[in-house]
Amino acid sequence: MSWSQPSEGQPASSGRRTAAESGHPAWCDRSRCTADPASQVDGYRPGVGGAHRSAPIRLDLTTVTALAPQIGEAYLTRAVAPWPCETYLHIQHGDSDIAMAVRDASPLLSALRLLTTEAEAESGWSW
Ligand SMILES: [Zn+2]
Repeated sequence: MSWSQPSEGQPASSGRRTAAESGHPAWCDRSRCTADPASQVDGYRPGVGGAHRSAPIRLDLTTVTALAPQIGEAYLTRAVAPWPCETYLHIQHGDSDIAMAVRDASPLLSALRLLTTEAEAESGWSW
């Protein structure tokens, strides 16, 4: 499995304002964002706050044995409520959508990276 950035041709910073200025996390893709902080001003109203959402990244799974479909997506979301909310990493593959808090995903991804780095070093292959 490899991770790749989405569509080329879009500048990485394309005039983005900082999160503090815009109210959106830096990773939020405004075209996918449904966040409506104004809906929460008078207190929590479940189901109407929307969520910030990142652009998906394409997961090329063509090298994974016996797995179909061979393309997946990963993206971030963060719900909107009057209190701070967790940011979640979603990994979609076929009908499956795995979601985990970024704070839980980060150590897992670091452990996987360490594991594969050790295997690459042992193989003597350089990429
Ligand atoms: Zn947003």
